[in-house]
Amino acid sequence: MATTPKYPNPIPLNKPSLNGSVLERLRQVIETGNPGGDGGECKAVEQKLCDLFSVRHALLTTSCTHALEMAMMLLDLHPGDEVILPSFTFVSTANAILRGGGRPVFCEINDRTLTLDLEDFQRRITKRTRAVVPVHYAGISAEMDEIMGIARDRGLAVVEDAAQGVNAKYRGRYLGTIGDSGAYSFHVTKNYISGEGGALVTNKEALARRAEIIREKGTNRSNFLRGEVDKYTWVDEGSSYVLSDLLAAVLRSQLEDRELIQSGRKRVHERYMSGLRDLEQRGKLRLPNVPAYCTSNYHIFYILLNSESERTMVMHRLKESGISSAFHYVPLHSSPYARARLGTESLQLPVTDRIYGGLLRLPIYPQLKDAEVDYVVERLGSILRPPA
Ligand SMILES: *Cc1c(COP(=O)(O)O)cnc(C)c1O
Repeated sequence: MATTPKYPNPIPLNKPSLNGSVLERLRQVIETGNPGGDGGECKAVEQKLCDLFSVRHALLTTSCTHALEMAMMLLDLHPGDEVILPSFTFVSTANAILRGGGRPVFCEINDRTLTLDLEDFQRRITKRTRAVVPVHYAGISAEMDEIMGIARDRGLAVVEDAAQGVNAKYRGRYLGTIGDSGAYSFHVTKNYISGEGGALVTNKEALARRAEIIREKGTNRSNFLRGEVDKYTWVDEGSSYVLSDLLAAVLRSQLEDRELIQSGRKRVHERYMSGLRDLEQRGKLRLPNVPAYCTSNYHIFYILLNSESERTMVMHRLKESGISSAFHYVPLHSSPYARARLGTESLQLPVTDRIYGGLLRLPIYPQLKDAEVDYVVERLGSILRPPA
């Protein structure tokens, strides 16, 4: 039986938390008379990212997708070279590998953290494997010590897809800064936004130098702007991945608010956890787990239901109550493209498939009120535990 929603407007899954300081930051950039790309504002934000996350180099880009593409170009992949990634990720992780000339090899996730499964990762390493891309899901880190150890033993590069991991930590180190390079997203749906935007971060000087060239259409314009050469010219393959100073201004204001944004999300996360504990104890759902080694940024709040049909039913019933919820990534190995072009028809990744089927994301953003969280909890209770 459908119920009348408690709130006049549906509760969205996500809401950007921009405030008035954005307008002031934008005004300042406009008044410089030069709101192009990679100017003073970008430099200031890049320095801020380096300081905040204790990393030597940060390059702002037009998206995380593009930061991943740059990271793959930096690997100089040859035809047939393989790069391992979880099947449970956004398409950009796989597209970047293809665009960099490599072959994506899909790997299982573990069902505790929904990140790369270590045993399956090791099984999939071949003579052609060049790199691994751990994806930090929902603000929870992949098991980086183990991944770095395996990569070192087998001579693999590590590119962290930290699109969802900005300001989250693994054993005290910021996600994205542990591997050879890391990619951040500032897309409107992420924690800290510039509308569209991303960054490539690395501690390696040589990678940063070459990334600057790739980002500037394959030219050494960055060296020219620093006065290191007297003209700039074409020196490598590249594309146009520089962020506009206008968007960097938006990001600067978001980074100033980062603790406020993160603590707002943490409050929502913890309220769901305590509100839904009872349903978990009754076996109706499973709650996420933040491992002791991880400081989450609370990017996503999800529940794991017992089957895909139940997940579809719950999503539908929440919608009737004015609550948005969503499933996540159709596993890439079962996508039409991978099946037709990457030969994955017979690849079996049962944990990935099971997690995909049961996972439901719930609204989480700093402005979400306690009473709204309680309403979501109450609705889930009555959907999953109908009165006798
Ligand atoms: C959002 C996301 C991306 C892509 O980020 P954009 O900035 O939109 O390009 C890549 N990987 C993961 C895991 C993501 O969640």
